[in-house]
Amino acid sequence: MNEKRKIHEGSSRLEIDLDALRSNYRTLAARVAPARCGAVVKANAYGLGVAYAAPALYREGCRSFFVAQLCEAGALARSIGDGPEIFILNGLDPGSESECAERGFLPVLNSLSQLERWRALARTRGCALPAALQVDSGMSRLGLPRAAAIALAADASLAREVDLRLLMTHLACADQPERPANADQLAAFASVSAHFPAVPRSIANSGGALLTRDYHGNLARPGIALYGVDPGPVAAGLRPVVRLAARVMQIRMIDAGTGVGYGLDHVAAAHQRIATIALGYADGWPRNLGGVGAAWHRGIRLPIIGRVSMDSLTVDISALPENALAEGNFVEFLGPSQSLDDVARDAGTIAYEILTRIGARHTRIFVEDGVAQTIAAGESL
Ligand SMILES: *Cc1c(COP(=O)(O)O)cnc(C)c1O
Repeated sequence: MNEKRKIHEGSSRLEIDLDALRSNYRTLAARVAPARCGAVVKANAYGLGVAYAAPALYREGCRSFFVAQLCEAGALARSIGDGPEIFILNGLDPGSESECAERGFLPVLNSLSQLERWRALARTRGCALPAALQVDSGMSRLGLPRAAAIALAADASLAREVDLRLLMTHLACADQPERPANADQLAAFASVSAHFPAVPRSIANSGGALLTRDYHGNLARPGIALYGVDPGPVAAGLRPVVRLAARVMQIRMIDAGTGVGYGLDHVAAAHQRIATIALGYADGWPRNLGGVGAAWHRGIRLPIIGRVSMDSLTVDISALPENALAEGNFVEFLGPSQSLDDVARDAGTIAYEILTRIGARHTRIFVEDGVAQTIAAGESL
C-alpha cells in the first residue's frame, strides 16, 4: 500500500472482507440445506455496514433478510430492492402498521395486540397482509404463548386477514448443544407448528444452524456466524470478516516512576517505550480493556497500559525492535493475531457486543472479488 493511499485511511481502518462473508453464507446454507438460509442484518449488519453486507449476501443467493426495527428495514430495502423478504424481528410498534404494510415489510407478530393491530389494518384494506408469527417456546422473551398460538389455528377468519409467511421461535441456548433446553424448546414449538402445517417454520439462529437437522426448519436465521464468529464450542469452518487497525499518533520513552493516562493508573516500573494510538472507547473499544487488553504488531503483543480514553489508548511497545514502529503506522486490534473472541474474553463480554459497538469513526474498506472500496470515516454508509 503506497503512502498516498494511507493518507486517506484516516486514524483507524476497518477492513470488511465481503468474500469471507459470502463464503460464510455458503457454509451455513450448505449446512442447513434443504432448508433455506436467510441472513440477520440487524444493527447495521452487526456494525459492519448493511448497505454493503446485504447486497453481498444477495449476490450469494440470500432472499430472506431479518432486521430488528422498522427504521432498519428502509436502509436495507434501498440496498437490495423490493424483491427479497424483509422481516422485522421486534415486531410492530404501535402506529407503524401503515408504513410497514405500504413498504411491504413483514412484521414478526410477537403478541396478540400486535396481531390484532395487523388484522385491523387488513380489514380496512380488504386484503390479507403478510407477516410472521412468533411463538414463545421457552425463552420468555418475545412471542405468543403456545396456547394462544394454537387457539389461533382454529380461527377461520385469520387467513383472510393475515398471510402467514413464517411461524418462528427462538432458542435460548443454541450455542450450548448439550443443554436439554434445546430439545424442550423444539418439542414445544412442534406442538404448535403441527397446527399450522402449511406455514414454513424458522427456529435456528447461528447456533441452531450448527445443531442437528431437526433445528433447521424451513428457513434458518443466522447472524453472528455470517460475520465470522463461531456461535458455540465447535469450529464451523467460518472465515473472519473484519480486521481493525489504528494509527500510532505518538511514541515516547518514559522513565521509571512516570505515570501514564487519566488517573496515572499505570506507573512505569522501569524505562519503557510507549505509543499512543488513535483508538478509544468512542470507537467502540471497551474501556475496561485498560491494563488488560492489547494491540499487536507483526505478531508481537503490545499491552494496553493505563486507562482507555475516548479517542486514544496507550500501549507498551518495549517488546518491539527499536525502529519497528513509527508515528503514522498502524497496529492491529482485530486480525490474525487477535480475534473478536479474544477481545471479548479480555473485556468480559461476547463477540456480538464488540462487533456491534465498533462505531462509525473508522475508514471502512470493503473488499469483494479483489476490489477494495474505501468509505471515509464519518461518511454515511
Ligand atoms: C439476533 C437474532 C438472530 C441471529 O442470532 P445469531 O446468534 O447472531 O445468529 C436470529 N433470530 C432472532 C430472533 C434474533 O433476535
